[in-house]
Amino acid sequence: MQALKEAILQRGKVLPGDIVKVDGFLNHRVDVELIEAIADEFAARFAAAQPDLVLTIEASGIAIAYAVAKRMKLPMVFAKKGEARNIGKDVYAADITSYTRGLTYGAFVSKAHLHAGDRVLIVDDFLANGQAALGLAAICEQAGAPVVGVGIAIEKSWQRGGELLRGKGLDVHSAAIIASLEDGNIRFAE
Ligand code: 5GP
Repeated sequence: MQALKEAILQRGKVLPGDIVKVDGFLNHRVDVELIEAIADEFAARFAAAQPDLVLTIEASGIAIAYAVAKRMKLPMVFAKKGEARNIGKDVYAADITSYTRGLTYGAFVSKAHLHAGDRVLIVDDFLANGQAALGLAAICEQAGAPVVGVGIAIEKSWQRGGELLRGKGLDVHSAAIIASLEDGNIRFAE
């Protein structure tokens, strides 16, 4: 998506550890117009998959998932982070290792908000090693809810998340795919 690529080039910053900082428009300060344009693209791309709900994880996925859910007229659920055992047993839970922080944390969704047979569209801001998306997919599997698509704002294609998710048969669409960050230069896949 051209507008997202331009925003990444003009307003993004490459940090050590293959991290792209986009907090000026995506996950701290939020460019609502841009997020809505990403949502339009996801809505068109995943309409045929007929999702029943949009699932993301707090906090960075929420703005995009909200926009997608509004555009597709669907409910949105976000997985919470924390110790699932403190929340009780009425949750589906997965452990996720954070790409940016390196820590492993629990992610959980209340059984009241995700049901067997719900067709789920997973949405997140980044795809790196795929741990966040795989954790959300594991939560869906526990619920008996099929994942009918994965919409990612920015995929980093040299990291293994895309391969892992597609290898599991998941239909992944990324609005912008970064192919490399060599010497701080952002190069897109297409
Ligand atoms: P994964 O779980 O695929 O390894 O990483 C995805 C998660 O890590 C996303 O939810 C995102 O919050 C964070 N993340 C991964 N790579 C980046 C990056 O380059 N920049 C930022 N801002 N977040 C990232």
